[in-house]
Order: sequence, then C-alpha cells, then structure tokens
Amino acid sequence: MKRATLFLTFILLPLLMSCIEPEQATGDHLAPYKQSLLPASQGDIAPLGEIPRYRITVRLDAEALTLTGRQQVFYTNNEGNKLGEVYFRLYPNLPQFGGQMQVQRAIVGARDTLFTYEAGNTALKLPLTPSLLPGEKLQIELDFTVQVPHAEDDEPHLFGLSQGILSLPNFYPMLAVHEAAGWHLDVAPEFSDAVFSEVALYEVSITAPLDMMVVTSGSALETQPNPDDGTQTVYCVGGPMRDFSLMMSREFQVASTTAYSTTVNSYYLPPDASSGQAVLQHAAAALRAYSDAFGPYPFAEFDVVEAPLGNSAMEYPGLILIGTDLYRKRADAREFLVVHEVGHQWWYSLVGNDAVNHPWLDEGLTEYSVYVYNQMIHSGDAADELVESRWLIPYQVAVGKGLDAAADQSSLAFSEENYEYIVYAKGALFFHALHQAVGDQVYLAIMREYLQQYKHGIATPADFLRLAEAVSGQDLDPIYLEWVLTVR
Ligand SMILES: [Zn+2]
Repeated sequence: MKRATLFLTFILLPLLMSCIEPEQATGDHLAPYKQSLLPASQGDIAPLGEIPRYRITVRLDAEALTLTGRQQVFYTNNEGNKLGEVYFRLYPNLPQFGGQMQVQRAIVGARDTLFTYEAGNTALKLPLTPSLLPGEKLQIELDFTVQVPHAEDDEPHLFGLSQGILSLPNFYPMLAVHEAAGWHLDVAPEFSDAVFSEVALYEVSITAPLDMMVVTSGSALETQPNPDDGTQTVYCVGGPMRDFSLMMSREFQVASTTAYSTTVNSYYLPPDASSGQAVLQHAAAALRAYSDAFGPYPFAEFDVVEAPLGNSAMEYPGLILIGTDLYRKRADAREFLVVHEVGHQWWYSLVGNDAVNHPWLDEGLTEYSVYVYNQMIHSGDAADELVESRWLIPYQVAVGKGLDAAADQSSLAFSEENYEYIVYAKGALFFHALHQAVGDQVYLAIMREYLQQYKHGIATPADFLRLAEAVSGQDLDPIYLEWVLTVR
C-alpha cells in the first residue's frame, strides 16, 4: 500500500525537506530508489550507469482540479553525439488526454532558458547552449501546471476526474527518447498507446487533501499530514522505472496479498469489494506465474487500481488500471484483462519498445503471454481455446473484411477498425507460431533470454528475431514473414 507503509528514516527526511543532492546526505545516491526494489533486484540499478533521475514535487488543488509541480531532472548525455537540445513530452496535452499542461519556467544548469512547444504542444524543446557533450551531466528544473479535465457524466477517461477517481498517468513532463535518428516526438492516435520512454529513477512528493487515497508506481516511504491546510504529503520512490503513474480517490478501499515477496494491492470503489478481491487474486497469480516463466518481478509493490476506463485496462510500471465495467458487468473478460496488463510488467515495463512505431511487439507478446499463464494456471485446453477465440477467429474476420495489414507498423498506419485485430491478434499469432515451432522449453528460454538481455532497455522487432534465432538455433524468417510482414 502506498500511504500506510511508514518507513521514515533519518536519511530520508532531510531529502524531503531540502533540495540537497542525495549522495551528499547518504553516501549512496541509489539508496532511496533501492527501497522500491526487492532485495534480490537492488543490484540492478548500478549497472545501468547514469540514467535520468527525477525529483518531482506536485500539489493537487482538488477544488480547482489543478496540479502544480516542480521537477528537477538530473540528466546525463548517454548518446554517442553531442546534444543541442533536450525534449520533454507533455502527454496531458494529447487530445485523448484532454488536459492542459503548461511549463512556466525552465532552468537549465543555473540559467533561465527560453523554451518552445512542438508536436501539438505535446513536446517541450529546451535548447542547450553550449551543447551537451557525451558523458556530460546537466540539471534541468521545470515548473509546470496541469489543468485536469473533469469528464462529463462520468464518461470513461484515461486522464482526468471521473467516477470519483482522479486518474493522472503521465502527469509530469517526461524526457523524450533520443536515438540515432533523433528525438522521438510521435503523436499516437487515440486508439493506441502514446508513451515511449526510457527507465529513470524517481523521487516524488505528492501533496493532496488528507482524505485522498494516493496510489503511485513504486513505493510510498512516508506520509506526513500537514495540519495547517488539511493536506498530506506522500513521499514515494521508484526505479528503475519507465514511467511513474499517479491515481487518487477519496473512495478507494484496498485489499492486499503477496506474490512471492511482492506486496500486491487492489484498490477499488466501495460497491466493487468482491470484484476487487477477484482482481487481486488474478493479479497475484499472474505475477507468480510470469515470475516463474520469464524471470522475477523486481519491485517490492504492485498495484491494481479501479479506473474510469469502461471495459478497458491500461499498464504502467508497477501499477495497472482496470476499467470499472470489468468489476461490475464484464466478469467474463476480467481475468484475461488483468493477466494481460500484468504481462506488460515484463513486456513494456521491464523490456521496453517503441510502442508507437512497433506496438505489436509488446502488445502481441503480452497478449500471447496469457497463453502461457493459462497453461500454468488452468490447462492446455484452456490455453488452446484462447488461440481460437481471442486471436485466430478475430484475425480471420479481419482478413475477410479486407482489414489485414502488416503487424510491424506504426500505430499511425492503422485505423481504429483494424488496430486490435492486427497488433493484438495477429501479433499474438506470431508468438503462437514461434511457440509451436520451437516447443515449450525453448520458447520459455527465448523469453528468459529476451528479459535478461533487454531488461530496463529498449528492444526492436529485429532484436527479438535475432535473439529468438540465436536461442532456438532455427531460421525463424518464414514465421516472421507469415505473421508479421505478410498481408492477406
Ligand atoms: Zn496491452
């Protein structure tokens, strides 16, 4: 649970109160973040080198529905070339998010810096003068505000207030991904996932009304009431994480269990207590199954949060959102969707990929991982049933309608009509064909090696194919051609 775990140490309190560098206070600048990891995974951070560190302080005005934040980012140029600028993504400004995020002030190094908005106000460009050389470090401070939308009639909303739930994923300016071709500033269509990011370390302090349950990625180390104004400040850490998500509600109730050593929490609205328990059990079962099959889930906490998402669900590192309909009227789809989102903890969160330009890679693999879960938790027949009902028949319907397309394309190349059929169903059928070709043992060996080689990094479809061929010793081009590239 995010607020009740009181882990206050004499080391952390000074960090919260002042803005000194962690290493000056502790001698181990990784110490705060390690607390969000299970002991066996705490050694994962150091080998990653100088990954970005965010220190975010944000305050919610629950009446005005505004977030006011300040974030410091400790950034190292890990690229092979000098950088003349750095970009942050302002995802709340996407039309499908419906928020309004503005940056009031940017300080780069010690200097006030003029910035510009790009990509439909979803990107903030900060020029760097002089350029940042490879290996050089930079401190960037941004003051920002977010006007949070209030959904009419409690309509489903990924970002905003609806059904008494404040859903605030991607609430802060996020560093864009830089690769050899430049900065990724894609604007994804509404029906697909928008966020592409690299892992970072997070310290986040959230101030909100005292009666608000605050749920985040990572672990809450301290909750401090502020008697003067009826608020509380929740201090959280997380990392290495690809994103840091935030959910709040005055109405959340919580049920908890463990999956191996991870604390699993299910947050739900009061009418949904029994479904909230069912969701908790599905999530814990999937965390255990995937830890056994692919490699351990590294974080100390995992949260499943009821969200105003209708009958859909969404993944973030250490935290998934499950739509209210799945608690109330779509029990038939509940287990599948919970297990799908848990699968994203491996395929998206731990092993990242460009979810805008290659969405099939994480969606197809996450979707197909439910086959492995069914084999382990239910039966081989239950797994085979999924192939027919969830992927093969829907895909054949799409082919019949003339909606087929190559799976490995940008989400911008699809329509709302064929996106799920191709990215999810056809993508899953590629992994099924691979599984059939190499058998259970080699298939799982491929998954474990994929996790091992790309954990906390970014993989491409070509990386996956190369690795699968190396582990299996088979030429997999024919399967890749048939399910990823061919259009029927
Ligand atoms: Zn998914």
